[in-house]
Amino acid sequence: MTRHPILIVGAGYGGISTARELDKHHVPFTIVNKHTYHYFKTLLHEAAGGRNDVQTYAIELTDVLRKPTSQIVKDTVHRIDWREQVVYGDHGEYPYARLVIALGSQTSDFSIPGIKEHAYFLNSLASARDLRERIDSQLASLPEQAPSAPLDIVIGGGGLTGVELIGELADYVPHFLRRHHLDPHWVRLSLIHAHDDLLPDVDPRLRAVAKEKLVHRGVNLILGRRVIAAAQGEVTLSDGSKVKADTFVWTGGIEAPPLLRESGFTVDDRGRVPVDAYLQVKGVPNVFAVGDCARFETQDGAVLAPTGQVAEQMGTHLAHNLLRLLDNDTMEPFVYHDHGMVASLGPTYGVAEIGRHHATGLMALFLKDGSKMKYLMHLGGPHVLLEKRKQWIEI
Ligand SMILES: Cc1cc2nc3c(=O)[nH]c(=O)nc-3n(C[C@H](O)[C@H](O)[C@H](O)COP(=O)(O)OP(=O)(O)OC[C@H]3O[C@@H](n4cnc5c(N)ncnc54)[C@H](O)[C@@H]3O)c2cc1C
Repeated sequence: MTRHPILIVGAGYGGISTARELDKHHVPFTIVNKHTYHYFKTLLHEAAGGRNDVQTYAIELTDVLRKPTSQIVKDTVHRIDWREQVVYGDHGEYPYARLVIALGSQTSDFSIPGIKEHAYFLNSLASARDLRERIDSQLASLPEQAPSAPLDIVIGGGGLTGVELIGELADYVPHFLRRHHLDPHWVRLSLIHAHDDLLPDVDPRLRAVAKEKLVHRGVNLILGRRVIAAAQGEVTLSDGSKVKADTFVWTGGIEAPPLLRESGFTVDDRGRVPVDAYLQVKGVPNVFAVGDCARFETQDGAVLAPTGQVAEQMGTHLAHNLLRLLDNDTMEPFVYHDHGMVASLGPTYGVAEIGRHHATGLMALFLKDGSKMKYLMHLGGPHVLLEKRKQWIEI
């Protein structure tokens, strides 16, 4: 069987950025992905919160990778034999000369009892659809008279995913209820977070703004306590108290796919493979890793956070290095450039931190939309931007 000169596994922010650059330069490669589409994971809270139809948050890979030198395969990878240089999928085997691992991450339950069985997650298009259907069906089945207790929608985890999701629901749920002539007080939205401050990765002043805004919009914040167990209809917190949860969503953390550990790679406590300055998996020849599944340490010893921005920059940088290798040139080390971060708190408010500059409200959302549009242009040019304009331009 002939070897794929460059095999990319995973078409998220990291994988598609590598593929997009190679496609642009007519360099032959094969990309293997679970789905035929790339989805906008950073916007899943919008999909779950009913802002737009779920399928609008995805783009077909054939709309991005259009050159005949680019081969797209729909398959699910279950093992990587890096000694023999073969990737095994459910439908085929893929021998490679060079491999790019871009398999992203999955929600981690940190072995907390009951989470796997009783919590909803937000980590894929299907999970966003499931959650939205669940919330819609619960709202639709509210009685016409005041219920004896409010319907409780509870989110566990106050990082970016949890905060953006509760912000979205704080807008969607009251709108839904008013539209159906129901009292908004019949549903309680709660966010549980282990620390006193939400959004650990942003400046403390913005954290305070986010907190204030959520409380102002009626969100019940339960801070400084951890979820230690989940069961049907309730969660238990670290102080022994119980919280009623008619729907419980767990956004407490992520880990890299277990197949990396199972394939014999050395991994860290989050299942990530350590990579060197060139994004090569340490000690494994011809294998690179980008995005959430890669552990990259900067020169001052900090580990880069799992974000779309990091994945995209790694993917693009790696493609340039692969082009250099094809030209018998030496690779260049990866340097991350932090372009700031924006968290939306629903469709009309956000908080942003760009370098030393802060923005809140609509200005933050303008910045978020600017970066969404830049990303779409990068992926597929103006025609893709126009096609997907609904969720990108809307604020
Ligand atoms: C709700 C939410 C909001 C977020 N907001 C932001 C934000 O505002 N800014 C930001 O920078 N980051 C944000 N993030 C984080 C960001 O989405 C991730 O860091 C980013 O998606 C990582 O990119 P990746 O390419 O490593 O992985 P992913 O984007 O997860 O892509 C992995 C790809 O691999 C495929 N795959 C996985 N397993 C297999 C397999 N076994 N076989 C074949 N294919 C497989 C998947 O289908 C997917 O296409 C958010 C995340 C969430 C969930």
